Amino acid sequence: MDKFKSIDTTAIHAGVNNDPTTGAIVPPINLATTFERDPDGEYSRGYIYTRSENPNRDALEQALAALEGADGAIAFGSGMAAVFNILMTLRPGDHVVFPDDAYYQCRVILNDVLGPWGLTHSLADMSRIDKLEAAVRPETKLIWLETPSNPLLKIVDIQAAASLAKAAGALIVCDNTWGSPVLQNPLELGADAVMHSTTKYLAGHHDVLGGAVILNQACPLYDKLRTMQRLGGAVPSPFDCWLTMRGLQTLPLRVRAQAKAAAALAEFLNNRPEVDRVFYPGLADHPNHQIAARQMKDFGGMLSFLVKGGKKEALAVAAGLKLITRATSLGGAHTLLEHRASLEDANTPTPQNLLRMSIGLEAIEDLQADLDQALKAIR
Ligand SMILES: *Cc1c(COP(=O)(O)O)cnc(C)c1O
Repeated sequence: MDKFKSIDTTAIHAGVNNDPTTGAIVPPINLATTFERDPDGEYSRGYIYTRSENPNRDALEQALAALEGADGAIAFGSGMAAVFNILMTLRPGDHVVFPDDAYYQCRVILNDVLGPWGLTHSLADMSRIDKLEAAVRPETKLIWLETPSNPLLKIVDIQAAASLAKAAGALIVCDNTWGSPVLQNPLELGADAVMHSTTKYLAGHHDVLGGAVILNQACPLYDKLRTMQRLGGAVPSPFDCWLTMRGLQTLPLRVRAQAKAAAALAEFLNNRPEVDRVFYPGLADHPNHQIAARQMKDFGGMLSFLVKGGKKEALAVAAGLKLITRATSLGGAHTLLEHRASLEDANTPTPQNLLRMSIGLEAIEDLQADLDQALKAIR
């Protein structure tokens, strides 16, 4: 793949080859599960069986690798399948460090599934690099970063974490779902692999589930993950791959517009009497604003805020919305708002008065007007 001057071009052209039989500029969807052998029994065209390899999955993997500046990518059927497969490259007795506010389901997998299997873990507030350092043990094999984090928008200094991991002999994997390759490139900052829930910004329309690990083929995880993908079979369907590729074409435009709107709405919310606090790395009072400004091209389309009062007031704001949709997930054209704590367990550290927003592509004025009327109604 040629390297283009801008991610705008890469997002449209990487992995796309015109169909040689028709010239179609949009690739066909290859639904076949099996591919013909040559008369001599060989597979000169490279495809045997679609669990192992599929043209649409190949194309998606090439595009994802190009977007993160790697020479390899391994696509899975969901973000969690990607997480699970990465963790299954480890062995019983190994130790991993995760952020204390890592994506909730990751914490559940560590506690309920991989803990009993023998993987040990520690959680650390990685927005303070000394706390990460204190959590690393001799048997630590992997450090997981999620920055910006969910739902508190904490920022981890990727470069500092990567040099710490290197000294400890551990691999660094960064969940780049919230930043997207448009705003943040962890591999350039020293991470060994990037994980994405492609369900979110990459596919971008709330209509396809997917995940990926993007890493160079020289990384020790690459061969293991490729084997696990082909044999474990948690693969995306050809149509899912095709839809995700379709979404990628507008990724840079979408993410920039969403970041611009999020910054405006963060300011708006920050000045509201009904709001206690706004978590958005673009705000000057965010504790790691400087690090975010250094390692991200913009501050992203996600924000959270604390409604003055408690759970009752937060739920009342959510209930009062007329345009913004009450739903989980993020990264699509629809603006979504979620009372995060009620999706997590009773012991969750997520504040009960926190509302999380994924800013979509509606006009900022309309979103602001909707928040304004919902906030006024709880006064
Ligand atoms: C959604 C999400 C995941 C999980 O991805 P799925 O595609 O839902 O399985 C992991 N990490 C982050 C940060 C996410 O937002």
